Amino acid sequence: MRLVVDLNKCQGYAQCAFLAPDVFAMHGEESLVYNPRAEEEQRERLARAVAACPVQAITADGLDGAGDGAASGREASDGR
Ligand code: SF4
Repeated sequence: MRLVVDLNKCQGYAQCAFLAPDVFAMHGEESLVYNPRAEEEQRERLARAVAACPVQAITADGLDGAGDGAASGREASDGR
């Protein structure tokens, strides 16, 4: 799924890197690097990171509504 972090909002609290270390990482003290196309299996962690971000800087596709995305035939369907 796709995600975007508004780096203008991000304050480098690293909550996301703590909760979803496979998606987010701190680069130095306060700059965040992240994978804008997170694995489907990261969904739950990603949801937690989104919820935990103190400034709501993270926006992710297909997280709300808990839909499984199966019906929409999204790009992520290279089922392994
Ligand atoms: S939790 Fe939010 S503010 Fe903190 S590093 Fe992640 S995106 Fe930035």
